[in-house]
Amino acid sequence: MNTMSDNNVPTLQARNVTKEFAVSGSSLRRGHIAAVDQVSLSLYAKPPQIISLVGESGSGKTTFSRILLGLTGPTTGEVLYRGTNILALNKQQFREYRLNVQPVFQDPYGIYNPFYRIERVLELVIHNFKLAKTKSQAIDMVDEALRAVDLRPNDVIGRYPHQLSGGERQRVMLARLYLLKPRIIIADEPVSMIDVAVRTLFLNILLDFRDKLGISCLFITHNLSTAYYLGGQIMVLCFGRVVETGSIDQVVHNPSHPYTQQLLTSVPSIDPENRWSTRSNLESVERPVTHEANKCVYVTRCPYAMPICSQQRPPDFATGEGQYAACFLHDRNVEKPEAAVEAGFK
Ligand code: SF4
Repeated sequence: MNTMSDNNVPTLQARNVTKEFAVSGSSLRRGHIAAVDQVSLSLYAKPPQIISLVGESGSGKTTFSRILLGLTGPTTGEVLYRGTNILALNKQQFREYRLNVQPVFQDPYGIYNPFYRIERVLELVIHNFKLAKTKSQAIDMVDEALRAVDLRPNDVIGRYPHQLSGGERQRVMLARLYLLKPRIIIADEPVSMIDVAVRTLFLNILLDFRDKLGISCLFITHNLSTAYYLGGQIMVLCFGRVVETGSIDQVVHNPSHPYTQQLLTSVPSIDPENRWSTRSNLESVERPVTHEANKCVYVTRCPYAMPICSQQRPPDFATGEGQYAACFLHDRNVEKPEAAVEAGFK
């Protein structure tokens, strides 16, 4: 999606990544579901960037993030770290990839050992990566990392994970990343379990990391408001397929895919401190199985569906500067229904 780097090789790249799962059930539904369907993405560390991957529950976001992190393999397609397939990295390259591509999960509670005080997470990073020469330097580094994520060391040090709020635990995870300074953070729904009051604070830390530490971020969310707050680029995911990409400003103010338009109607206001209901008309729809792959993924719900939408998979059409939508409404050779023309699709 983005463009520039020191040598134009993305730090992390997904190329046509597909992940299928077998489906049991009636013969009509038996087959394979494409949880992720030919998704491509390029993340550059220079200049640092933020890309939001936005989709509803079940859209394949988490599966895709796990593939990028090397926690599960794609069925087809590949993930490259600095131009090399992550399955072909040598030991040193793999260590570098693991260090430079770091996750932040929705609920970090499972990552903490409940029997250790919270600062151990930070001390381990300092110890394992030999970041400090002396004990007092290590203590200073823990203090600095906590302050960098707006935590007061005295409020946190000496406490156990269950004694912190979800927002505090997430920020300690960011403090860990402050010490590690990876090139890319893959944050999967990191604010969905955080109090609304500290959500903006968390997002500001990610922006600070980009601006002050040069860390890029793939921000995975169901919440369009938080993506808008972060700015940068957006990819809209619908049933495992990317249906629209572009700058968040363009996509929010001029959505060019019917699914994105419909998502935006469920946003009360673009404000990360507001709750946004993600319930759309897709919630009760079964995902397409692979033998239905040659059609638009949104065809059963689209108000403008045309015959071609059930016969071919729509390619990406340019709809603005750097903006693309996988929708035949942008194909000049296709006659549009009146309702679509009235809605502005020409
Ligand atoms: Fe609707 Fe067809 Fe566009 Fe899909 S390709 S979003 S069904 S108009």
